[in-house]
Amino acid sequence: MSEVAIVTGGSRGIGRAIAVALGAKGMSVGINYRSGADEAKETLRLVEGAGGEGICVAADVSSKEDVDRMFSEVESAFGPVSVLVNNAGIRRDGLALSMKDDAWDEVIAINLFGTFACCRRALKGMVRARYGRIVNVSSVAGVSGSPGQANYSAAKAGVIGLTKTLAREVASRNITVNAIAPGVVETELTTSLPEKRYEELIGTVPAGRAGTPDEVASLAAHLCDASSSYTTGAVFVIDGALTA
Ligand code: NAP
Repeated sequence: MSEVAIVTGGSRGIGRAIAVALGAKGMSVGINYRSGADEAKETLRLVEGAGGEGICVAADVSSKEDVDRMFSEVESAFGPVSVLVNNAGIRRDGLALSMKDDAWDEVIAINLFGTFACCRRALKGMVRARYGRIVNVSSVAGVSGSPGQANYSAAKAGVIGLTKTLAREVASRNITVNAIAPGVVETELTTSLPEKRYEELIGTVPAGRAGTPDEVASLAAHLCDASSSYTTGAVFVIDGALTA
């Protein structure tokens, strides 16, 4: 029986690349999205093309009811979930002094609570099965400060604290929990920045370019492998030496 994975925010960008990489390992993948149904279907086509199978599941990760339904749908289709990649994330940038409460709340709700809600739901089955792999997508903004991103940076730093705590709580059950912290990766999240700001950002990367979703996905897929059994509670920066 193939392993069953859920990738949140799997409809495009980094999440799509991770879903496809897990499909290439022969996994059955629950491809989560919030609103981009057509994009999620395209991810499913790519997952199947890579040798996996999957279903698309609409769910807002900041809603615990949605999260529960998403897991139930994937479990009904394929069986217990043994791999979870918490990738769904948004940014609503602005200087802290003028940041509106709802920009703070929304980013914390999706990027941090959503990650927690999915981990909590996944761990129920993983603890029972005494096996699991969880990868949480943080950011270099959660490792170093990032002016204009107080909400995003706080959420992504929170994801790192959550990852380390969960890793310690479940290590004895053969469940690993790791975080990856990408730098600048070419997706809608970054290409939607004003062009000048994007060019400035790239100018700060010693590698001289943005990373690709596939480069991030290969790291995430490695951590989702059964063989990555002693790597847990770790944070992997993948940023072309941006923070080195
Ligand atoms: P992206 O292209 O904007 O994709 C974001 C994904 O998250 C989409 O599939 C989106 O689906 C989904 N999503 C957003 N809100 C959601 C919600 N409430 N519930 C479920 N799904 C939701 O972003 P990306 O660049 O691939 O980023 C993926 C992750 O990497 C994020 O956590 C981001 O913070 C992190 N990251 C990215 C970079 C970068 O440079 N790109 C760097 C560091 C970290 P819908 O379109 O359907 O809403």
